[in-house]
Amino acid sequence: MEWYRSSHRPLPWKGEKDPYIIWLSEIILQQTRVEQGMPYFKRFVKQYPQVRDLANAPEDEVMKLWEGLGYYSRARHLHAAAKYIVQELGGHFPDTYEGIIQLKGVGPYTAAAIASFAFHLPHAVLDGNVFRVLSRFFGIKLPIDSSKGKNHFRQLAQNLLIKKDPARYNQAIMDFGATHCTPQKPACATCPLQKKCRAYLNDQVGELPVKSKKIKRRTRFFHYLVINHQSETWIRKRSEQDIWKNLYEFPMVELENSLRQAETLIDAFDFSDIFASANYEVERVSPPYQQLLTHQKIVAVFLEIRLKKSLDLNSFGIKKIDRKNLSKFAFPKLIDCYLKDKSLYLNL
Ligand code: SF4
Repeated sequence: MEWYRSSHRPLPWKGEKDPYIIWLSEIILQQTRVEQGMPYFKRFVKQYPQVRDLANAPEDEVMKLWEGLGYYSRARHLHAAAKYIVQELGGHFPDTYEGIIQLKGVGPYTAAAIASFAFHLPHAVLDGNVFRVLSRFFGIKLPIDSSKGKNHFRQLAQNLLIKKDPARYNQAIMDFGATHCTPQKPACATCPLQKKCRAYLNDQVGELPVKSKKIKRRTRFFHYLVINHQSETWIRKRSEQDIWKNLYEFPMVELENSLRQAETLIDAFDFSDIFASANYEVERVSPPYQQLLTHQKIVAVFLEIRLKKSLDLNSFGIKKIDRKNLSKFAFPKLIDCYLKDKSLYLNL
């Protein structure tokens, strides 16, 4: 708390009392760096100053505003929870930990953060920063991703909480982890906790915290068909229970391996019969684009074709739009990169 007095980070949501604004900031900052999340936070507050504004917004608009921030289920849950607050709770943000954790997309960390920051309730936060500070200071080797470890840290964090000022305490320990006791190169030399820090005294700073599981990523191969006819192009909304739900994409087929042979690729689409008669020419195949997600690696190629005659693909859930309107739709980052990066195309 002493360290916090002189070293805290000045952030726009600090000292905020409106639970809705605190909630927005917490959801936007989940798994996101502050510098990356900040412009999104400002945009959301400007566009939706109150929970009713967010609840009444069209889903496509919310997704478009979230575009580029990743982990899109956060945006869907945020929108669903705003509707729930307005429709079921009369627009009143829940003011208990139990009520807050009922909101879609809110887990124990976010519920504790909102409960303490907005309502001064005595709930300790436990995020990556807190895990790191506690495991180093107390020299705890229990894996932070094991249930035994989680329980231990949860109990410890709750015992340490300064109950008469939970908001300030929670903010202080998170800021300390984010800016001082950082994952790489923590500032041990100037640390006010140095004399009592077990990790520092035992030369184990680099080994703590301990994680038991390594993330395994599976690789998926997406093949997009960019269909052009005059100023028209065709896109679809992803509606499956999969990554990027409710974002838009070009018609896509997923295959076991990356395929770059144009004719074979077109055959893999379930509407390829219509194409045979429509008379098209293949223009380009892009080099592979990659995006790393937490558990998946996506490798994508874009096959660009030009039709001689327009097509109706509505029955396949694919709609025709004017290319100049592409920027109105929210696309995954990978497609955004492709759109911004046309100079990387390879001529066939
Ligand atoms: S001495 Fe180093 S490892 Fe220990 S709390 Fe301070 S910054 Fe973290």
